Amino acid sequence: MYNTVVIGTGPAGLTAAIYLARANLKPLVIEGPEPGGQLTTTTDVENFPGFPDGIMGPELMDNMRKQATRFGAEFKTGWVNEINFDQKPFKMTVEGIGEIEANSVIISTGASAKLLGIPGEKENIGRGVSTCATCDGFFFRGKKIVVVGGGDSAMEEANFLTKFASEVTIVHRRDTLRASKIMQDRAKENPKIKWKLDATPLEVMAGEHAVSGLKVKNNETDQEEILETDGIFIAIGHNPNTAFLQGKVNTDEIGYIDVIPGTTKTNIEGVFACGDVQDKHYRQAITAAGSGCMAALDCEKYLEGQPVHDWSQAL
Ligand code: NAP
Repeated sequence: MYNTVVIGTGPAGLTAAIYLARANLKPLVIEGPEPGGQLTTTTDVENFPGFPDGIMGPELMDNMRKQATRFGAEFKTGWVNEINFDQKPFKMTVEGIGEIEANSVIISTGASAKLLGIPGEKENIGRGVSTCATCDGFFFRGKKIVVVGGGDSAMEEANFLTKFASEVTIVHRRDTLRASKIMQDRAKENPKIKWKLDATPLEVMAGEHAVSGLKVKNNETDQEEILETDGIFIAIGHNPNTAFLQGKVNTDEIGYIDVIPGTTKTNIEGVFACGDVQDKHYRQAITAAGSGCMAALDCEKYLEGQPVHDWSQAL
């Protein structure tokens, strides 16, 4: 039995683990299929305070993990299949670990980039298809790039990619953009950005080693064409990693966990959420880390207020 189980090891989960471990609560931290979270797919992180020369994403996450371990956090690798919040202690079945009981749970499973689900997409990730401009833009110096999406992320990624690419074409499925006016204007003013609106992506075309084009359909005329490109960046939003929690905690219609404003408390007493799994707006490493700290403090307070709790784990 654990005082606290932290599920997920991005900046939110690891910060929570550091605080809980320092409070001598000996948290168990469950690492999923992408230990370290989205930052492990990033190169230079230049906006995390405290690193004036930047730091590589994987190194930052490794440092956070070491910091949590130093204070006594226990790490196990597994996949949470089943979780029961109906009774206390909470119970969960974790593939690769077995059954675990905990007095409290912190959910920090993050969010994953959405994919289009078209032929050629998945198999060409890393060969020209990407969901992360900051991670992979560098590889497309002087090349032609397509960005798919019509929201702020697509505008931001397209603008960023013009630093490297010779030309960036934004492909969007409607003729009006979802992005905010300021982001649209910035993209429209960028001479390297071209537009393919009202176009549905149909298939990623690729040669033996790399992407060569994106087949799209004009929604008005139904005419198909292949846009020649070296890279396809998919920027159509993120999905919170909450499939295993369906019906267990309150979420919004997309699946982001609802927390009581200004806290990390979910609708279940003793269950907290932090990081991108409950934040569709800011989605930054530093805001995730901040909410991880909040979750640990909320959780500590909750455990103190418990009439019966097993402190033997903590001593
Ligand atoms: P988003 O606002 O949900 O936009 C997603 C875009 O992808 C939409 O244009 C959508 O088309 C398109 N799309 C979704 N599924 C698609 C599919 N299957 N095929 C083709 N196109 C598809 O997501 P986001 O741009 O990632 O932004 C998420 C949040 O973060 C927003 O609140 C945004 O304001 C914020 N954000 C802010 C900044 C900033 O201020 N610097 C930067 C990035 C993100 P439809 O329009 O037709 O639905």
